[in-house]
Amino acid sequence: MDLDVIVLGMGPGGEDVAGRLAEAGLRVAAVEANLVGGECPYWGCIPSKIMIHEAETSRSWETLVRRVREATDSWNDQVAADRFTGKGGHLVRGHGRITGPGEVTVGDRVLRASRGIVIATGSQPAVPPIDGLAGTPYWTNHEAIENAELPESVIVLGGGAVGVELAQVFRGFGAEVTVVEAADRLIALEEPEAGAALEKTFAGRGIDVRTGAKVARVDYDGRFHVNGAEAERLLVATGRRVDLEALGVGAVGLDESARAIPVDARMRAAEGVWALGDVVGKGAFTHMSMYHANIIVKEILGAQEPGPRERGTSQRGPERARPSAREPVHEAEYHAVPRVTFTDPEVGAVGLTEAQAREQGLDVRVAVGDLGTRGWIAQVEGLVKLVAAGDVLVGATVVAPPGGEVLGMLTLAVHARVPLTRLDEMIYAYPTFHRAVSAAVKELTAAG
Ligand SMILES: Cc1cc2nc3c(=O)[nH]c(=O)nc-3n(C[C@H](O)[C@H](O)[C@H](O)COP(=O)(O)OP(=O)(O)OC[C@H]3O[C@@H](n4cnc5c(N)ncnc54)[C@H](O)[C@@H]3O)c2cc1C
Repeated sequence: MDLDVIVLGMGPGGEDVAGRLAEAGLRVAAVEANLVGGECPYWGCIPSKIMIHEAETSRSWETLVRRVREATDSWNDQVAADRFTGKGGHLVRGHGRITGPGEVTVGDRVLRASRGIVIATGSQPAVPPIDGLAGTPYWTNHEAIENAELPESVIVLGGGAVGVELAQVFRGFGAEVTVVEAADRLIALEEPEAGAALEKTFAGRGIDVRTGAKVARVDYDGRFHVNGAEAERLLVATGRRVDLEALGVGAVGLDESARAIPVDARMRAAEGVWALGDVVGKGAFTHMSMYHANIIVKEILGAQEPGPRERGTSQRGPERARPSAREPVHEAEYHAVPRVTFTDPEVGAVGLTEAQAREQGLDVRVAVGDLGTRGWIAQVEGLVKLVAAGDVLVGATVVAPPGGEVLGMLTLAVHARVPLTRLDEMIYAYPTFHRAVSAAVKELTAAG
């Protein structure tokens, strides 16, 4: 088969690149070892957010189980596979390994592409080498999401985003939940104030949080025993890992022992090799994967000479392909990466934390405020923390029921480097949660 591009891995980023390149008339093969769509729609964002929603609204475990099965088609990817092949792409099922420049081997099949390879293989749950853990029926996010039985008790190993979100789900349905976290606070990558706020909420809801707790051993005798806690289930949520050796990236000159694939601002890892999403280690988020995908599509189509299909002979709509082929490429920027932990309240954050800004030697000023009138009306606690350097925001965190939504305006401010004085002059609707941002901005401009 003559190919232009091989896309290795069909998570959100790979699916977007493969589909758009195929639509534009390129000859694309996509290799997928599991389900077309990847982690996000089957074991990540979508089902976990449905679980959170049902824990907060219907509180019906049966509804949750039914909705997760509907959303994932009971872990069947036929619709997504047909969507891709309907765009003219070739789907190759199996584990792909890079075996040379432009070459991927899947079983005994060797695929070769003239333009190159897009590595979009995502990440897998990282399971730490704790004594006694291997061989026990512990859960990762896969089993926790596929599981149809409500456990009576769960120990969650890891207090990062995945751990705290699922901890709150199971607690919402009445399970006894213990969160064991090695760092000295929950969601340790975020601001300490956010971790403290979450810990207070968890305590109020009867979740046993043990921070600063190193786990040396796991015992299993039909129930799990971890650091004095005991439960029916153990959920391991200790982060993600990539296995570059299994991908064979050495065949295109990349270091197989690295923790991620290094890429330049146009997502190029080597001549004829692009990489995106979790595997490049710039933030394990679906929106990051899609952001990278867009850059790669522009990069590949922008450099492409118009082919016969683009000149108007294709039935698949060359007019749609043309504008994107003419779009200028753009370079990845990471100063305003947004992330949301979908707990109740949500923790939305963008850009640098105060500690990161100080580590970079910036002249940092911070303001921390509560949720103001709207917080009082709703009787909810939360906070806004802004991190400024010079006359712009370089980071922001909001802990509020709609923390992820308030984050939108903060992301824009950090991304576009809107001067603090302009943010101060803006009109904030009363009484919204956004007004808490206005109060903190005022504090910064007064101090600056
Ligand atoms: C519980 C949970 C909740 C999450 N919630 C959110 C959220 O709310 N918002 C958010 O932005 N992100 C969330 N994420 C993260 C998000 O799911 C990932 O960042 C995103 O899926 C990464 O996309 P990707 O394109 O890098 O690849 P992935 O989605 O990881 O997909 C990679 C694909 O490549 C395939 N593959 C790997 N190696 C090979 C190979 N050698 N050959 C063939 N195929 C291969 C895999 O089978 C997989 O299908 C969550 C993650 C988890 C675990």
